Amino acid sequence: MASKRDYYEILGVEKDAGAVEIKKSYKKLALANHPDRNPGDDGAVERFKEAAEAYEVLSDPDKRARYDRYGHAGVQGAAGRSGAQFHDIGDIFEQFGDIFEGFGFFGNRPRGGGAGPRRGSHLRSSLTITLVDAALGVEREVTVKRSKACSTCGGTGAEPGTVAEACDYCGGHGQVVQAQGFFRVQTTCPACRGAGHVIRNKCKTCGGTGREADTVTLDVKVPAGVDTGMQLCLRGEGEPGQNGGPRGDLFVDVRVEDHPLFQREGTHLMCRAPITYTQAVLGTTLEVPLIQGTDHLDIPAGTQPGEVFRLRGQGMPDPHGGRAGDLHVEIQLEVPKKLEPDHEELLRQLAEHEKKQVSPHQKSWFEKLKDLVTGEDDD
Ligand SMILES: [Zn+2]
Ligand SMILES: [Zn+2]
Repeated sequence: MASKRDYYEILGVEKDAGAVEIKKSYKKLALANHPDRNPGDDGAVERFKEAAEAYEVLSDPDKRARYDRYGHAGVQGAAGRSGAQFHDIGDIFEQFGDIFEGFGFFGNRPRGGGAGPRRGSHLRSSLTITLVDAALGVEREVTVKRSKACSTCGGTGAEPGTVAEACDYCGGHGQVVQAQGFFRVQTTCPACRGAGHVIRNKCKTCGGTGREADTVTLDVKVPAGVDTGMQLCLRGEGEPGQNGGPRGDLFVDVRVEDHPLFQREGTHLMCRAPITYTQAVLGTTLEVPLIQGTDHLDIPAGTQPGEVFRLRGQGMPDPHGGRAGDLHVEIQLEVPKKLEPDHEELLRQLAEHEKKQVSPHQKSWFEKLKDLVTGEDDD
């Protein structure tokens, strides 16, 4: 440790150099001496390490101040080592990895990485159900395209009768470690891309991927109360994972068909019930449709068109377990387009009576109309 070089000298900067200049200078040195560019060159590794150590001190204002004052002794760690805490080159990448970004070096990847477990892709499918199915809940099948282990090679990717061999380059580890002096450089094996094995005779069915396109049919439990736009998730029914990773999920988009009688608003259902003039006047009992079966609804005498009757709890169930919605029945007055002769005769008689006994509402309406036409304005 006697002949430690000056940190400013190592980075080739003046004592009063700014942070930007120091970083720029370090980056230049680090790239020039990068182990990937200088395989087997111990001198480069030494310079690479030396530059990182200098940069570690000079890029930290506190350490730099101590170094300026006391020299190397000022930045010595508790263990008596020099200021730099790097055990190996991997530590350098961990700490200053951003320096190498965009240069395609391994340094900015997580250490010990390579081809780790990866979750399979999510899949998406859709399902159209009737409103009645949506109200009651239903079990349906969906068919999705997803890959499976190749039926020829069983997923190994190797031609039957052959096996994937341990990668010669990395000895099956998936990582290459270059020992250079005290330092170890660990990289993802370039020969097998981290898999640890190579397939010499690729399976002809899957081309070595170990996968084959497949179509599967799955049962989907649709809970009561679903609505258009809701999505069901089938955990673990997506694409298979890689390198022991879990499968992805399958998302099923639900669409609920329109119903000929019911309109839906959240958990409520609306329907229209046509009644005749006499039913409105005299009152009646109506048979109204429900999701399942029918119910009887009392229409009192004098019911007006547009009046709404509510049947509690006869709407849609709440998919989140809340209270079920209501069924709203809106009364519509149906005016016949054609009359039986005897009905017409009765109505004409009724009309004669009405001429003599105009109802109070109509009377005041007629008076207002008359005032409007004649321009008179007496209330
Ligand atoms: Zn295969
Ligand atoms: Zn390998």
